[in-house]
Amino acid sequence: MGPSPRPRATTSTGSTCSPTCRRCSGSDRRRGTNGRDVVVFKVERPRNSPDRAPAPPPPSDNPWARSLWLDGVVQDLSPREQLAGDHTCDVAIVGAGFGGLWTAYYLKAADPSLRVTVVEAEIAGFGAAGRNGGFVSAGIAGSGARYARRSGWDSVLRAEREVLHGIDEIGRVVSVEGIYCGYKKAGALTVATNEPQLQRLRARVEAKHSSGLGPEDIRLLTADECADLIPGPEGLLAASFTPHCARVDPARLARGLAAACERLGVKIYEQSPAEHLGPNVVQCRNGRISADVVVRATESYTIRERGQRRTFLPLYALLIATEPLPQQTWDELGWRDGIGFSDLGHLFYYAQRTVDGRIVVGGRGAPYRLSNPVSPENEQDSRVYERLCQTLREALPAVADARITHHWGGSLAVPRDWCMRTTFDRKTGLGFVGAFGGHGVTASNISGRTMRDLILGHSTDLTSLPWVGHQTRNWEPEPLRFIASRLIHKTLASADAYEERTGRPAKRVRLVAPFLPPSH
Ligand SMILES: Cc1cc2nc3c(=O)[nH]c(=O)nc-3n(C[C@H](O)[C@H](O)[C@H](O)COP(=O)(O)OP(=O)(O)OC[C@H]3O[C@@H](n4cnc5c(N)ncnc54)[C@H](O)[C@@H]3O)c2cc1C
Repeated sequence: MGPSPRPRATTSTGSTCSPTCRRCSGSDRRRGTNGRDVVVFKVERPRNSPDRAPAPPPPSDNPWARSLWLDGVVQDLSPREQLAGDHTCDVAIVGAGFGGLWTAYYLKAADPSLRVTVVEAEIAGFGAAGRNGGFVSAGIAGSGARYARRSGWDSVLRAEREVLHGIDEIGRVVSVEGIYCGYKKAGALTVATNEPQLQRLRARVEAKHSSGLGPEDIRLLTADECADLIPGPEGLLAASFTPHCARVDPARLARGLAAACERLGVKIYEQSPAEHLGPNVVQCRNGRISADVVVRATESYTIRERGQRRTFLPLYALLIATEPLPQQTWDELGWRDGIGFSDLGHLFYYAQRTVDGRIVVGGRGAPYRLSNPVSPENEQDSRVYERLCQTLREALPAVADARITHHWGGSLAVPRDWCMRTTFDRKTGLGFVGAFGGHGVTASNISGRTMRDLILGHSTDLTSLPWVGHQTRNWEPEPLRFIASRLIHKTLASADAYEERTGRPAKRVRLVAPFLPPSH
């Protein structure tokens, strides 16, 4: 299902665009630093684009293939064996997303004699792990200032460095375990397309530099310098570039990691939802595990459990993917493989070039629902779909007519203070990894190694990171949380529109700042 074919005209740059396209007001050629001409599109950003996207493509018939990535997994997604009857092990892990799987992988690799069991409600990689944007990114999950209050700024800088190391560590495991997930570390750009975004961009880079990172970690690029890396989205003023970011197909990473765990001897049960977990016990629908240590790695799904509803705000992020684009289009676009980019809108978007030559665009803005806040019904939304399609058309007009093959979503586990945590209580044997918000791909790897050290009783650089033992208060009760999240969404959307229109920072964002992630 896709846009109906329209006659195409060739622009002065050789790219194709609909002759009826009212967005394109021309284009420029810039000379990239490799001496190659790069096309930069100038687009009039319409308030209400006349080009409406067709209805979203329906979800796959396969109930497990809930994203482009899961749909593309070559191996069979049929569930593994279910837990039945009584089972005993040393460490029981609940949840086979990245948090649970990395913990299992590192524990078993460190001590092969440990009996490690993972129980998963659906299939490994079913949650956010198999649905996310595929950015193995830098940047700590949480607020440096909040961590610093408890642990000091040195520890925050150590955390930043640990995240950079985590990106390479994931690449190492991918290579050692032969996980084919398109891991490619080429960096990422954050682009500013209006004056307020430019101010935020500069402030963000300065803050990183004053926290101890250097220009080799993150630096500002002019629009001309960017043009060598990605096609210029409309009105690109400047960008920050970090070499510390890799692209992956996250579902292949999760599924490959599950297989690597099994090769080490980890037992994984699927379609085995834990109904209760407590000290030394995990009670599932058809079986029960007795274990010295029980680790919760259930992320946003945690809120479905009795007494846990206010632990996280389960915030849905939605994405679209184009069909694979021909090499000619990629040559025209001049988008260097492996580089992802995002903008600095309040309801920001991010875009990824996939290993099979598609463009994936994702963004914030899916409405939070009062009933069933984590549910398959929330995985598509026609308004968000339309907005993402419009973003694609505006940011990359050369692919405006590409067919959209997938639309999906997943929920982030957002803690009240947006800070991740890794905790382990030796007395009860209960551990927790998660609260990653939108940063879990790299953060979960760090958490997995940290949980290994905590369980094994090793005091290491990881076990003194600022999120170890971090505590967060609960979200407000409903309907306050619902009202607040709708208000935040409306405020941020109107702030983006105001900034685009006036070129001035929208002060209204301050009103909702206490509920927002630290970059705001
Ligand atoms: C749309 C989207 C885009 C994102 N983009 C990025 C990105 O580009 N980069 C980045 O770093 N982060 C991104 N994130 C965040 C990142 O994906 C998550 O932080 C990370 O995957 C969460 O950790 P996890 O994989 O362990 O969680 P999940 O994958 O959600 O794992 C939790 C697992 O627990 C299982 N489970 C739940 N309850 C039970 C139970 N009772 N019993 C047994 N099993 C249970 C679930 O089925 C699930 O498989 C994104 C998230 C989303 C939703």
